Amino acid sequence: MYSRTHVGHARAFVSADVLVRYLLARGLRVTFVRNFTDIDDKMIRRAADEGITVAALAEREIAAFHADVRRVGCLPPTHEPRATEHIVLMLDLSRTLVAQGVAYPTPDGSVYFRVRRFAGYGKLSHRRLEDMEVGEEIDPAKEDPHDFALWKGAKPGEPTWESPWGPGRPGWHLECSAMSAHYLGQPFDVHGGGSDLVFPHHENEIAQSEAVASVPLADLWVHNGMITFGSDKMSKSLGNVLSIADATDRVPGEALRLLFYGTHYRAPLDFGPGRLEEAARSLERLYEALARADDLAGRSLAPIPPAGALTGPLSPFLEEFAATMDDDLNAAKALGLVFDRLRELNRTCDAADRSAALAARDDLTRAGAVLGLFAEAPAAFLDAARSRGQRRAGLTTAEIEAAIAARNDARHRKDFRAADTIRERLREQGILLEDAPTGTVWRAG
Ligand SMILES: [Zn+2]
Repeated sequence: MYSRTHVGHARAFVSADVLVRYLLARGLRVTFVRNFTDIDDKMIRRAADEGITVAALAEREIAAFHADVRRVGCLPPTHEPRATEHIVLMLDLSRTLVAQGVAYPTPDGSVYFRVRRFAGYGKLSHRRLEDMEVGEEIDPAKEDPHDFALWKGAKPGEPTWESPWGPGRPGWHLECSAMSAHYLGQPFDVHGGGSDLVFPHHENEIAQSEAVASVPLADLWVHNGMITFGSDKMSKSLGNVLSIADATDRVPGEALRLLFYGTHYRAPLDFGPGRLEEAARSLERLYEALARADDLAGRSLAPIPPAGALTGPLSPFLEEFAATMDDDLNAAKALGLVFDRLRELNRTCDAADRSAALAARDDLTRAGAVLGLFAEAPAAFLDAARSRGQRRAGLTTAEIEAAIAARNDARHRKDFRAADTIRERLREQGILLEDAPTGTVWRAG
């Protein structure tokens, strides 16, 4: 578990969230498990550095993690098992693998998986054993450098659990195999994760789970692409790691989702400068259109939950939206449809066609339930966006309204140059004016 989840993690959570939401929307029942690694080498080191227990560190990290996923609007999983609460399951699996000769204990109390005993090793990542890299520090007790630890013998100062091989702790890969079988059975339908986990983590999960079983671990693997900054990978050493907390201080969490959807989940996503702000502006356009529809309807439509959002007779828009999502969750194309519908909504609002506007509003609400968008009331969202922009501009509402009044005076005097100067000065401060039939409105650009 990392010190603070970053936008790369957010992409993985949002990718999984969209899949869950879509399945729910189509009327399926979903059991969604997301597990916590609450013991590993990194956490042991960090807890020691901070002079706290690994359990205390895990508690704090899990709370921070929950706050972060809430910021990007992810649905809570059905189960959120923690590794340290499932040690018994992991020992059971290790015992079985040792009994079958697929794994072996070493004198220091560790247990290793014999990768050469599993013919399918490398099938997920399409690698041959001969081409796989091995770590720099190889335990001399390993039979083969590619073998990986199911169980790690106790080292001084580390948290440990009793096992048939002496005190120790589980290896990272083992928890996923043990807990997924417990909560989902084997095979289960879909296993997700970032593409950086394909090898060795997911490959090792498959080996552990399939070595003595006659069925696969999962029927389908869904891996999302990584995030890049220009030509650079996001990495701590380059100092370009953007945390979810920082990103969502700058823009609403839904804007981050919108940015993600612009690129197919499997492809790498370039998080170039200005893209967050661009996504925030697109999100505002959507909310502005919803607010117009609400004005026309005389009430605000509440957001709907994803469950069943795409069942029953569907409008032509929703039919097309669903077909697009059926095509490997092509959210980029689905988003294009959403923006087409947004333009239609604006046109129907221009024409004061109330029933057409409400139909478009309903379409967008349902699509939003699948994409995790429009969870806020449009008026409240736009207010918040305005105050964020105002904070950036450093202007109070009274100051902006006074400037608008001064501009209107100038226009009445037909002093258009003065009026333009006021408008331009506000624009430079990030406040944009629009002259609507009902008067001048402003927004933060
Ligand atoms: Zn895993």
